[in-house]
Amino acid sequence: MNCDRCNKKLDPNEKREHLGQALCEDCYMVVLSPVKTCDPWAVHSAKNLEKYVGNQKVLTPLQEKMLDILAKKGPLTPDSLLKACDESIDLEEIKREFASLRHMEKVRAAKQGPDIVWQLW
Ligand SMILES: [Zn+2]
Repeated sequence: MNCDRCNKKLDPNEKREHLGQALCEDCYMVVLSPVKTCDPWAVHSAKNLEKYVGNQKVLTPLQEKMLDILAKKGPLTPDSLLKACDESIDLEEIKREFASLRHMEKVRAAKQGPDIVWQLW
């Protein structure tokens, strides 16, 4: 079977149900932290994203920092990554950046014991 969202091949054991959809772990994480379209930051981010079309290597400074930390420290929970980045950033912001990086296939979510960790793709 395949994930209803990204169409990736899905191991039945890793299947997550959400609103009647069968989702992979990564998509499940994303749907659980939806980006509100009325959020000015999200609109700003979407506009930036348009600029990236044709140049997927352009990252925001925060995204670069996240990748850098994950490269040095290995898989981290969202909270740990937040602390390692900059405590003035809120968790929602870092989740949105993660979703963008996930979309670019630079990072992915994985399960480590009871925790969800983020790691390089
Ligand atoms: Zn998926």
